[in-house]
Amino acid sequence: MKSSELYKIAEELLPAGVSSPVRAFEPNPIYMKDADGSKLIDIEGKSYIDYCLGFGPLILGHKNPTIMRAVIERLKRGWLYGTPIEEEITLARLIMKHVKSIEMLRYVNTGTEATMSAIRVARGFTSKDKIVKMEGSFHGAHDTVLVKAGSGGATFGVPNSAGIPKESVKNTIQVSFNDLDSLSYVLDKSKDEIAAVILEPVMGNVGVVLPEKDYLREVRALTSENEVLLIFDEIITGFRLSLGGAQEYYDVTPDLTTLGKIVGGGFPIGIFGGRRDIMENISPLGPVYQAGTFSGNPISLTAGIETIKILEEVLDDINKKSDVMNRSLSEIAEDKNYFFSGVASMFQMFFTNKRVNNYNDAMQCDKDEYMKFFRRMLNEGIYLPPSQFETNFISAAHSKEDLEKTVEVYKKCL
Ligand SMILES: *Cc1c(COP(=O)(O)O)cnc(C)c1O
Repeated sequence: MKSSELYKIAEELLPAGVSSPVRAFEPNPIYMKDADGSKLIDIEGKSYIDYCLGFGPLILGHKNPTIMRAVIERLKRGWLYGTPIEEEITLARLIMKHVKSIEMLRYVNTGTEATMSAIRVARGFTSKDKIVKMEGSFHGAHDTVLVKAGSGGATFGVPNSAGIPKESVKNTIQVSFNDLDSLSYVLDKSKDEIAAVILEPVMGNVGVVLPEKDYLREVRALTSENEVLLIFDEIITGFRLSLGGAQEYYDVTPDLTTLGKIVGGGFPIGIFGGRRDIMENISPLGPVYQAGTFSGNPISLTAGIETIKILEEVLDDINKKSDVMNRSLSEIAEDKNYFFSGVASMFQMFFTNKRVNNYNDAMQCDKDEYMKFFRRMLNEGIYLPPSQFETNFISAAHSKEDLEKTVEVYKKCL
């Protein structure tokens, strides 16, 4: 069957025929049946160079042989015990070796759970209820943070989800990214009620939005002065900008950090961690409850351990070739009068001629034009994330030929 035929059936069974909103696009999403290295292969056998990469986890590309071997070997010893396993220690040590602000951590199954739990422990520790987030940031699909949220919310124009009681978001305050005045105002006014500021150090769910020089440092200074915790959501940037994440790259130390995506090597995972005195409030040590049947499962941890070990060897190479790619694409953008934004192995071409510094800037883009461009790229065998408000990723598996071909196709399709 063709993708269009399968999609017709799926639309009857699943809302919009998909399991997560941004996977849906007009006229129909493409059904994939296999993947290898930098490529996705659809059910009709056509292959695509993949820049969506599972929306971020696959920094080593598809079907990395070392991870596949490790996971298959691990499966032979069972895949769920409901007891502690040694891999919990191995992965924690690997993470703490690189992400210096994490002194203690807990494993969960998704990024959504990680930010939900980090916010809960921040509230429990400070005995305060309010949190500050950035307009257009995305911290997963739970109530507290689904206000002016990026990703699918931005793509489909529903940044504030229906079904969330007003009470659930009355403690969520929004400020604009890269705007210190608004943050300073809010902290000054409500510091006694604000538990934490949560942000993506590089916004990755409204396209790629970089922090201005010293912005993150100033946010750190402001939160410290006002005795408000700082949570870095590094679910995209962790082990991508550098082994120590955006906090190492920009040299700023948060109190709590969330990780996900890359640290599960392509299997479901989330992690939250940080200062020991905060993390010691988690159950059963402390009063902040958190639990999960599949948390710290052997398969995700094994894949994560192998991924980080490989990244210790190859992350520099990934970033070097990404720099070359980013330069080529930004030259094209300049030519065509579009705004290009990229750092390390994440990039996006914004369909606007103005600089994008925050959510409102991103919303000025011509997203219909982007989707036309996306479909032209798809026809040429390049799979981009199907939204102006997502991030393109480059993996270890992308060859020089892949990247050069992509640059040519960009020129043609813009
Ligand atoms: C993807 C993402 C999440 C949510 O992670 P899930 O595993 O999809 O629940 C949270 N924060 C950021 C920054 C993300 O990119």
